[in-house]
Amino acid sequence: MKIRFIYPRFRKFLEGHPELDELVRRHLVGNYTMPPSLAIPILASLTDSRHEMLLTDDNIGQPVDYGEDVDLVAVSFFTPQASRAYEIADGFRAAGKTVVLGGIHPSLRPHEAREHADAVCVGEGEGVWRRILADAERGMLEPIYTPDKTYNLADAPIPRRDIFSDNDYHWDAHLVMTTRGCPVRCEGCPVPEKEGTKVRLRPIDDIIEDIRGMPYKEFYFTDDTVMLPGKKYQNYLLKIMERTAELDIRIFLASTMMMIPSPEFYRRLHAGGAVSMYTVFGFDRNSRRLLSDECTRREWREAIDLVRMNEDAGIHFFASFGIGFDEHNERTADRILKFAGDAGIDCAEFYIPAPFPGTPFGIAAENQGRILHRDYRLWNTGNVVFRPRGFSPDQLQQTFFYLWKEFYRDKEPQETLKSFTLNKHE
Ligand code: SF4
Repeated sequence: MKIRFIYPRFRKFLEGHPELDELVRRHLVGNYTMPPSLAIPILASLTDSRHEMLLTDDNIGQPVDYGEDVDLVAVSFFTPQASRAYEIADGFRAAGKTVVLGGIHPSLRPHEAREHADAVCVGEGEGVWRRILADAERGMLEPIYTPDKTYNLADAPIPRRDIFSDNDYHWDAHLVMTTRGCPVRCEGCPVPEKEGTKVRLRPIDDIIEDIRGMPYKEFYFTDDTVMLPGKKYQNYLLKIMERTAELDIRIFLASTMMMIPSPEFYRRLHAGGAVSMYTVFGFDRNSRRLLSDECTRREWREAIDLVRMNEDAGIHFFASFGIGFDEHNERTADRILKFAGDAGIDCAEFYIPAPFPGTPFGIAAENQGRILHRDYRLWNTGNVVFRPRGFSPDQLQQTFFYLWKEFYRDKEPQETLKSFTLNKHE
């Protein structure tokens, strides 16, 4: 078969906000793009070589050819890509092509996705992709494909990232999968719903083989579950970092504020190549409390200590602050700026929560009738798409602008993104 994979375009979250254009140009924040999710490279690696595989990366403007002679169109997407994904799927189906949709958004809203597709893959694609291909070849696709068991990461193939290899991104940190699943159930996170509440660890030998096979120097571990408190996860991450220490690479990690309070831990991460800690505020209970009116002086101090442990170990702390959660009010923005100042944070982004499907926040917003619209192009955390509690929608949007402008007002660009080696295209 001739298979055309499509990675639909999504708006970067500061796109469409002329108020922030000058800041974005000066600091390069919010407009960098990074290599795409691993979903398509993973499916490509599971596709028999007798099939011909092609890719359209709509994000970098590759044209979508609806008239192309292809046997199967496979579109993978997350929520900010969903409106464009449906537009593309509808275009191919109108031209008589067979379309399969998969990824995090269709997995969590399969019936919506089904209206635009011949088949929808729900959950992890690895367990059903070969069955989808066999059924597509026989012309007998089922409407919904759901894996019948949890995927064992020991079986995970090395993703075929070369399918995207000619593409040009602003930031070249290549994604590496380490774990799947999470028991924590943070308010804004779909991982437990999509991947299950049991953490699965990818074999460390496979992670190292994956990294060694790439001709790059920068890697982004996609799963903040490696930062979960608990000896088991701590040791797993440290074992990975002992191995990466031999590779002369730079690693970007992600976490919430549920990090481990141990300076030695961060020193060992840095020795393994960790240079940046992207930390989301607003998902986990610790950061929610920190930015609420209930936060104690001790909690404030402990949170600052966590930031400093990273920085002192040589890991640049990159904060991602959410504004607009239910306990937030007109004082929250200044509280965020105060915390950033007190902790010496010099690199930050600000986002407006979106009621993503499968997240506790999204489920509650939907049940409470607070979703304003489903134009998913605007569900990119740069726009208000739900009715907030502590603000009017316009107040929240203006507060978002205020945070960006205030934080970057006295910052120098060479400081803010010092841990990134950005490709300079502009
Ligand atoms: S944000 Fe991280 S810790 Fe929280 S549920 Fe998601 S994966 Fe788990």
